[in-house]
Formats: sequence, structure tokens, C-alpha cells
Amino acid sequence: MKESNSIDIKKERIRLSRIGVLNSHLSSDPMASEKEAALAAVPSDSPTIFDKIISKEIPSKVVYEDDEVLAFRDISPQAPTHILIIPKVKDGLSGLSKAEERHCEILGRLLYTAKVVAKQEGLDDGFRIVINDGPSGCQSVYHIHVHLLGGRQMNWPPG
Ligand code: AMP
Repeated sequence: MKESNSIDIKKERIRLSRIGVLNSHLSSDPMASEKEAALAAVPSDSPTIFDKIISKEIPSKVVYEDDEVLAFRDISPQAPTHILIIPKVKDGLSGLSKAEERHCEILGRLLYTAKVVAKQEGLDDGFRIVINDGPSGCQSVYHIHVHLLGGRQMNWPPG
């Protein structure tokens, strides 16, 4: 891709990002604002809000923490239980599509933690795990995370 094209795409994404943030404040449909935020997010390996959550610069409701992972309640829950599980060290894993062989251990750790937290939350009848990836996958924060959703009947197919 030509450098000028790449700059134009970045500018357009920044413009959409501003519109997305504005709409997310104005929209009454939370699904629409989540999608707008995801479409407006710029895929990148730069630090995200999750780094500030890990460093405790911004508060979160932590439900589980060890040396490798942090689990905290989603600020915009889509189910009675909605928890995000993230690696403390991103190591290039802005999303699942960036996974390499060296990430197998942490990817397994994220899923295993989801199971531990599901048990801790009493989700004995079942739960759902989601990993959004990229704009089409509705990813809005580019620090890999597992969504743990439960406490209500899930539907299939997902939206
Ligand atoms: P995704 O759209 O898959 O990238 O998911 C990102 C999630 O992060 C969304 O469900 C947001 O609601 C959630 N989120 C964003 N900021 C925060 C925050 N400060 N605390 C907790 N969850 C957040």
C-alpha cells in the first residue's frame, strides 16, 4: 500500500473514531454504539486503556488477578455477568489474529482463567466466551481480551 493511502486511511479512521465517540454518547441503542466504537477503533499495537487498568491508573472492578492475567468487570455489561480477561503483558497480542506460536501458553492461560472465573461467579449452567478480532469482528480495544458472559440464556447465532 502507498504511504499516502495509508495516511488517508488513518485520517479517515480518526474522523470515524471522533464520530463514534460522539454517537456513543448520543445513541440510545447500546449495540449500535458498541459497533460504531469498534468500526472507529484504529487497529494498532499502541498502548490502550487496558494498560492503565493493569497499572491501576484507572479503576476497574477486578475479580481475579495473578502474575500473568487480570480479570475485571466490563464497563458496559452485555449480560448479568460480563468479565474481561486480559494478559498483563501484551507482547504484540493486540488481537487474536496477531497470535504466534510463542503465545500458546498465554492463550491457554486466558481460557483457563475464564473457566476459573466462571466457577467463581457461579456460572454453573454455562457461559459464553467471545474474542472479537478486528473491525469486522467488532473489536474496539487492541489488547487481546476474552469476554466471559453469563447469567442469562445466550442466543445462537450471535449478532
Ligand atoms: P471489544 O469490543 O471486544 O474490543 O471489547 C472491549 C470491551 O472493553 C468492551 O466491551 C468495553 O465495554 C470494555 N471496556 C472499555 N473500557 C473499559 C473500562 N475502562 N473498564 C472496563 N471495560 C471497558
